This record gives sequence, C-alpha cells and structure tokens, in this order.
Amino acid sequence: MSVVSTHRVSGWGNTTPVRARLVDDAELDLSSLGLRGAIPRGLGRAYGDAAQNSGGTVVRATGETIDLDAATGLVRVSAAVSIDELLCHVIPVGWFVPVSAGTRFVTIGGAIAADIHGKNHHRDGSFGDWVRSVRMLLASGDDVVVTPQSDPELFAATCGGMGLTGLIREATVQLIPVSSSQMVVSTRRCNDLDAVMSTMVDAEDTNRYTVAWVDATVRGASCGRGIVTFGDHADEASGADPAAYRPRSPVRIPGPAVPLVNSVTGRMFSEMWYRRAPRSRDGETMSISGYFHPLDGVDRWNRVWGRRGFVQHQFVVPLDADDVVRDALATVAASRPANFLNVLKRFGPGSDRPLSFPMPGWTLTMDLPATAEVASMLRRLDERVLAAGGRHYLAKDALVPPAAVSAGYPDLERFRSVRDRVDPNRVWCSDLSRRLGL
Ligand SMILES: Cc1cc2nc3c(=O)[nH]c(=O)nc-3n(C[C@H](O)[C@H](O)[C@H](O)COP(=O)(O)OP(=O)(O)OC[C@H]3O[C@@H](n4cnc5c(N)ncnc54)[C@H](O)[C@@H]3O)c2cc1C
Repeated sequence: MSVVSTHRVSGWGNTTPVRARLVDDAELDLSSLGLRGAIPRGLGRAYGDAAQNSGGTVVRATGETIDLDAATGLVRVSAAVSIDELLCHVIPVGWFVPVSAGTRFVTIGGAIAADIHGKNHHRDGSFGDWVRSVRMLLASGDDVVVTPQSDPELFAATCGGMGLTGLIREATVQLIPVSSSQMVVSTRRCNDLDAVMSTMVDAEDTNRYTVAWVDATVRGASCGRGIVTFGDHADEASGADPAAYRPRSPVRIPGPAVPLVNSVTGRMFSEMWYRRAPRSRDGETMSISGYFHPLDGVDRWNRVWGRRGFVQHQFVVPLDADDVVRDALATVAASRPANFLNVLKRFGPGSDRPLSFPMPGWTLTMDLPATAEVASMLRRLDERVLAAGGRHYLAKDALVPPAAVSAGYPDLERFRSVRDRVDPNRVWCSDLSRRLGL
C-alpha cells in the first residue's frame, strides 16, 4: 500500500489549518487526483481557505520567467513569480506593477486569481484590467493561452476566479512607467469618520493612491477617526535614484505563535498610532516598500494573533451606504474585541469579471480574532452589507455562508457556467469553493 504524505496548509489567518498533498505543477497528474481534486497555491497570503484543499491536492506553480519589453512595459512573467521579485527586476528600468496589494509577497498567479486591488483602484482598477493574456492548465490537461479576445468568458472568470478555472502558469501584464523608486506622500489626521471620508474623496482627484487607517477602538463621535495618506510616484526631479529599490529583509519574530494582540494592546496601539501621525504633512518622501508594504517589515507577523488565528473581514458597500461602514466600526468599538488594523478605501468603477470583488463604493477591512463572538457579530453586520447591495472579498473570507456569495455576486451563475464548460467534474476545487458552493 502506498502512503501519500501530506502537509499542513492554511491561509494567512491560520483559522482552519488542514492537511493536503502538496505538489509542484510539474509533478501534477490530473488523472489521479481523486474526488477532492486540486487547487493552485501561491504564497498563501489569502487569509481564509481559498488556497487550501483538505484531504486533496494543493499545487504550486513553478517558473522564474520575467521577460520585460522595456520599451512598452509589457512583461511575460511566470505565475509563481512574486510581486517582490518582479519589482526588483522592473523598477530599475523604470516600470512598476499597475496594482499592488498591501504585501509584496503575493504571486502573479495569486494576484490574477483574486483580481487584487490596491490604493489606486479609483484610478487604475484591479489587477485583471492589466492582464493581456494568461497561459493556463485546464482540467482537461490542455495548456492554453487565453486572452480577452480568444475566450472572453474564461478570461473574465479566471481573473478573480480564485484558482477554480485552472492553474495559471504564465501571464502577460502591462506595467506602468515610473521615473523613481520613491513616493511623495501626504498625511492628514482626521478626528472623525466624516473627515476621513471627505479627505479621501478630495484627494482622489489629484492623487494616484489614497488609503486610510481607521480607529475602531474609540466609541462615540471619534469612532472611525483616522489617518489618511495619499500620494504618487516621485519624479526624477526629487533626486531619488531610480534604481534604488532595496526593500529591507523582514525581521523575524522568534519562537512559537504567541498572542500579542488583545483588546488592551489593540487600544494602546491605536491611540499611539493616531497621536504620532502629523495633523497635516505634505511632500514626505518614502520608499516604495515603506509606502505600499509596511507590514512586510516583520516576517510572519500573522503569528501575533496566536495559534487560534484571526480573520480579516473585508466588505464593500455602494457609495451611498457609508452608514454601513460607520455601523461596522461602531459595532467593533462597542464589543471591544482585539483590534487595531482597519483599512478604508474608496473603489472606482468595477469590472465585468463575475467573481471580481471591487465595485464602486467604500471598502472596509478589519482584522479581528477568530472567536465565536466575533463570528456572530460579523454575521449580523454582513446582513447589513448585503441588504445595502454590498459583497465580501473571497481572498480574505473565512466565515460568510453561501447565500452571501449568491447575494453579493449577481454574476455567480456566469462563473459557474464557465466552470461547467471547462471543468464539468470539478477537478479544481478548494475548501473555499466547497464551503461556498461556488
Ligand atoms: C498583509 C496582506 C495584505 C494584503 N493586501 C491586499 C490588498 O491590498 N489588496 C488585495 O486585493 N489583496 C490583498 N491581500 C490578499 C492577497 O493579495 C491575495 O490573497 C492574493 O491572492 C495572495 O496571493 P498568493 O500568491 O499568496 O496566493 P494564495 O494565497 O496562495 O492563493 C490565493 C488564491 O489564488 C489562487 N492561485 C494562486 N496561484 C494561482 C495560480 N498559479 N493559478 C491559479 N490560481 C492561483 C489560489 O487557488 C487561491 O484561490 C493581502 C494579503 C496580506 C497577507
């Protein structure tokens, strides 16, 4: 009898670790997967269960290709390459990723599969808007190149499709030109949520990037106070060396995962973070990694939540439903779970990709402990999100029920019909797809 060795696999939130067979794509035999099928995995930065497959197979894409046309900024890149690796290669020759997540340790495959958004969504859309083609392995075993012209439905379902249409092996992506590796950033400290929101709206017209940290540890009128930062790439006139992209290696927290975040440390941190921000500052020069990826300074920082893990809950509601954002922050402030990281962003127009998360509106991200109390608090909140016409981000989710996806993603049937066509036996599946009936 052959024994198949399995590995512990979990999302970044560490909420539901499972055991699965881990293979590189070259070792993958699609005909011998069994009923649990397989799911592609990048660097495991999805918070919930999107890149895990309990009792089944988890496939890592491989490859190191970065083939840049330095004249046009079109890059052919392996899906396994991370944004970090890509930036090291392209910034020195004047190009930058069109969309960056809050961490640079995300693969190109993961960026496409989650159709990631960044601080520039209001201006530049999400990652899929910049993908010109993907080469992918379908459930049939065919290795195909898919473009928006060759198979519009498969292309749209793959960008945001959470790995469920096939394994992306390579993509062609349009980069954006930059003339410096530095950012010029403005900061505003705002003493309530109204001020945060209006500052963000004003900043959008003239700034490529805007984002806010908001405080859900204070109650009353100050709940939702925050720090808005906005900015753009510096031009050469700032004197910055365009080739100087040298992110510092992350500091490692030694020892086992120990819970450092609780309601007291969360409140203390939030108060300190708010107070130390300047009331108003313009023209600050920052490095790309300092501006886009501050959390990457600490390796495996997710362990500060301890072994029980944490959820990152992210929803978007239409622009006129900003009261849902207000209620969400007030609900967290009232029930005082451990919390210090809440991020607010305003999305621009959405896309026609059926499982893509962004739509015009306010999106709020909250890091919270994985407890039963938090789960029931979020369930009540989620009803408000859906009633307002909002939805949840599948790359972050660990909790919502299937009904939340059918309500939040009206094109879900379109996605399913693509899967019916290219993968009728559901070879590609994950704990997320089973939990949500995708
Ligand atoms: C600190 C932090 C900050 C973040 N900030 C943002 C943010 O600002 N905006 C945002 O949109 N997201 C953000 N995220 C989420 C993250 O960008 C996404 O979850 C992304 O998909 C992770 O990429 P990964 O390579 O780690 O993929 P994994 O987490 O391993 O997988 C994520 C999904 O992509 C699929 N996938 C991975 N590789 C492939 C492939 N080769 N072919 C097909 N499918 C594949 C998987 O099946 C899975 O469904 C953040 C995450 C962290 C930890």
